[in-house]
Amino acid sequence: MTGRLGGKVALITGGASGIGRACALRFAEDGAAVAVADLDTARAAEVAERIVAAGGRAVAVGVDVADEAAVEAMADATVHELGGIDLCVAAAGISHAGYVSSEDGDARTERGRPRGVGPILDKSLEDWQRVLDVDLTGVFLTDRAVIRRMVAVGRGGAVVNIASGAAQVAIAGSVEYSVAKTGVWMLTKGFAVEVGRHGIRVNAVGPGVIETPMTAELRRAGRFVEKIERATPLGRLGRPEDIAAACAFLCSDDASFVTGEILYPDGGYLAPQRL
Ligand code: NAP
Repeated sequence: MTGRLGGKVALITGGASGIGRACALRFAEDGAAVAVADLDTARAAEVAERIVAAGGRAVAVGVDVADEAAVEAMADATVHELGGIDLCVAAAGISHAGYVSSEDGDARTERGRPRGVGPILDKSLEDWQRVLDVDLTGVFLTDRAVIRRMVAVGRGGAVVNIASGAAQVAIAGSVEYSVAKTGVWMLTKGFAVEVGRHGIRVNAVGPGVIETPMTAELRRAGRFVEKIERATPLGRLGRPEDIAAACAFLCSDDASFVTGEILYPDGGYLAPQRL
């Protein structure tokens, strides 16, 4: 029960890797019991085992957030195993249709570039749809499943959706990603407006460039890191722990009057005027 999230149950999607994994570990450190949900059940189990080994409570749950029935089953499993859901971080996501997380970056490439990355004029409907299904509809399904259960219990709750700095800037080659993340921002505000009366807060976090498997390939590309560091007032890329700290804050009572907000932990990347 100790820690600022003590006594709470948190469901974290995308919890096997990167930002979601850092959230799972941070929320457990702050006292929450954690359901680590991910497409990659084996790696989710490793995260859950690490939490349990450190004296916390955690379970791993397999889920494809784009699958409505699987998301409902994930929420039911969390309630069944951990006794409820008080907090949620919707972090599962893909940067493009062919994305698979690994420390080496994307392994699936087509014509020398990751599948789904390319000009909007060449974008297939399938690749467009997959990104929207996971990054936008997946967040809708997750939030809806979690919040319905919070409303039924009547104890309030807090949800954080992982959007992106890409909700503010168009990324050539990955327009559908920016569209999905902008949608997450409005979805967050929409949920916040409709469920605030139940004592449920819904916020979003829009990370800058973070050192996770999602950016591994970019970080290997010539001078990418140097360019981002130069364009970032704090002079470095973000770490998954930076984002987990923002999510823990938004889920804590320190943010008890904050809802419908998007917080950009990006080292100030979006602040300067760019001519
Ligand atoms: P990551 O390390 O690749 O983590 C994403 C996790 O989500 C992976 O474990 C992945 O599973 C899982 N996932 C993917 N599709 C899923 C699905 N359909 N259902 C369930 N789980 C799924 O990447 P990350 O950087 O931590 O990304 C986390 C979130 O942050 C994403 O929403 C991303 O868009 C956002 N974000 C990241 C950055 C950044 O710079 N890294 C910046 C802004 C926003 P697999 O291992 O099976 O692929």
